Amino acid sequence: MAVLDMLETLAPIREKIVAGARLDFEDGVTLMESDDLLALGELADLARRVRGGGDEVFFVQNLYLNQTNVCRVKCKFCAFAKTRKQEDAYTISADELVEDAIKQHAATKFTEIHCVNGENPHVDLEFYVSVIRKLKAALPDVHLKFYTASEIHHIAQLAGISHEEVLRELKNAGLGSLPGGGAEIFADRVRQLIAPGKEHPDNWFHIHDLAHKMGIPTHCTLLYGHVETYEERIDHMVRLRDQQDATGGFLAFIPLAFHPENTVFERRGFKFTTGADDLKMIAVSRLMLDNIPNIKAYWIMMGMPMAQLALHFGANDVQGTVVREQIFQAAGATSGTEQKIPELVRFITEAGRVAVQRDTLYNELQRWAA
Ligand code: SF4
Repeated sequence: MAVLDMLETLAPIREKIVAGARLDFEDGVTLMESDDLLALGELADLARRVRGGGDEVFFVQNLYLNQTNVCRVKCKFCAFAKTRKQEDAYTISADELVEDAIKQHAATKFTEIHCVNGENPHVDLEFYVSVIRKLKAALPDVHLKFYTASEIHHIAQLAGISHEEVLRELKNAGLGSLPGGGAEIFADRVRQLIAPGKEHPDNWFHIHDLAHKMGIPTHCTLLYGHVETYEERIDHMVRLRDQQDATGGFLAFIPLAFHPENTVFERRGFKFTTGADDLKMIAVSRLMLDNIPNIKAYWIMMGMPMAQLALHFGANDVQGTVVREQIFQAAGATSGTEQKIPELVRFITEAGRVAVQRDTLYNELQRWAA
């Protein structure tokens, strides 16, 4: 089957990759339907190299913070959100958060803070702006990667101002980039099933489009392994590719495996994604997203051994030290919440690649010999 697959279905796609031609929607579905995992990995690694990729595998030293887990939206895949009355609900003031970040920085010297939150209806614009302003004043060299497009939309609604005005306020306060969350799957059918309370995907694109035009780089994601079809995964990737053609501001794509624990889907019998599906997603992402330079194997979600394998399936980034991640932990991730730099370097080096510590914008900070 594997040899036949390569000869009959993957060979024309390979020719396109070698020729530097773009894959179309049907090619994407063909790749998803292939069960020849090793051939997909080989093709994806070829695509990465044909497009100029080298042996470098990047990571960033970062701290994950959440200001609030109170959320009005109730996405069915989410194990993080709470209502304000739940015992473990929290909303942290800007001063508390800054104090905590300063202590962490003294210990680890991270270069990035990654912060996403629930859509808390009980706060205001200043709650979001002041934490950026205070962090920038306290830690001026740290890049602030704050607020998904869904949160930007939520803040705009809270404050009664436009997406552009929210982004300008945050940029003026010190915002560096946006994380890629809130994308889930763009297809309306899936969104209705898994996140009926979330805003329309047009808002996600509008906000990333505006951010890129304002000089704010962003990241993009896809949440897979729930009720979506292969066609809906590819449709999502093609929409991201079109946006990147238009504005070029996506730094990286991160496929996110759905973790069902503590969600409605766990009660319905949904399981964690398999390693085969995780590797296929990395490979197909690399093959389809020819204009997004970095594909992340997010170790906190897939585990470090699988992330190491993903480096041979088109990934060139393992995210970072990820101190104190809460969202995937709430949904059953068992990968721990902190990888120290020597451990990341060991995993990358033993995969035969060159470990490079980067900043958020992919400037090289340090490299380790293979
Ligand atoms: S995914 Fe985000 S918006 Fe949806 S319920 Fe969870 S915290 Fe709220």
